[in-house]
Amino acid sequence: MATYIVGVDIGGTTTKFGLLTDKGEYRDQWRISTDTENGGKDFPGQIAAAIDERLNEHRISKRDLLGVGVGVPGFIDEERGIVSAPNIGWKNDPLRSMLADALHLPVYVNNDANLAAAGEHWQGAGKKEDSTFFITIGTGVGGGLLVNGELVTGVSGTAGEIGHMLVVPHGRLCTCGREGCLEEYVAAKGLSKSLRDYLRNGIGTSILDENSVAIDIYEAAAAGDALALHIVNEAAYYLGYALANAATMLNPGKIIIGGGISAAGNTLLQPLLVHFKRFVLKEADRKLALETAELGNDAGIYGAAWLVMKRLGYFDGRSRPLK
Ligand SMILES: [Zn+2]
Repeated sequence: MATYIVGVDIGGTTTKFGLLTDKGEYRDQWRISTDTENGGKDFPGQIAAAIDERLNEHRISKRDLLGVGVGVPGFIDEERGIVSAPNIGWKNDPLRSMLADALHLPVYVNNDANLAAAGEHWQGAGKKEDSTFFITIGTGVGGGLLVNGELVTGVSGTAGEIGHMLVVPHGRLCTCGREGCLEEYVAAKGLSKSLRDYLRNGIGTSILDENSVAIDIYEAAAAGDALALHIVNEAAYYLGYALANAATMLNPGKIIIGGGISAAGNTLLQPLLVHFKRFVLKEADRKLALETAELGNDAGIYGAAWLVMKRLGYFDGRSRPLK
């Protein structure tokens, strides 16, 4: 009899589910729209119903399910199961107990980038390395840290938040309320802001205008547009700077780069590597590999399943979970 776990990856518009075995094999995956109406109050019930419905379809008894892991885009207090996710409307909502009460199953919650890091560690690019730093670059920038196979979250859940590492003193205003955060310069919105600043200062380009988005900038850079190349190089500079500081301080065996940015490929990665090598402490770089993520959009679901198994003692030498 197989043992199952449900992984849930909550996004701003879509929430993805995966039914996995304890060996990390997918048995099913599905998605529902994220309901942000009414401050997201109805959404936990919809998540529970979506899981119950699918388990019934597969005729899987809850006795064969270890539990449910949930990745949330926001700040998470895992121990208390309390989440704050502005994109969904949750502010100090007790998501863990709400889901556990509805499902009658063990539920574990964590930040989505932390779980993507854990997913890559369990089944992806970090498989053979116990100490990894994962960065995801898309609309925003997130990060997750594993040390000796343990997810490091910090005392209030912000460990790994490299998107809010300050790279420009008194720089652009960030959504976190501070100025000069990394994501304001390298995430999709950051590239658009850079472009807008240059255009308003009279530095023109034949390809780009104020409506151009990140992918247009990367395409223009790949086509040799001078301004686009400059903007991408600037993003690579700040990214290299932040990752070099992270690597110097954390000394991981691997830095894994994921998120929508992978579409940019070498247009970003090549200059990033040049800047990173220039900034990093040589001793920290001695055994370090910089690699792209392998699991794409599924990393968070793998990580959510990993979290359930981890918290139940699966990876700590016990063959059966603690109940
Ligand atoms: Zn910030």
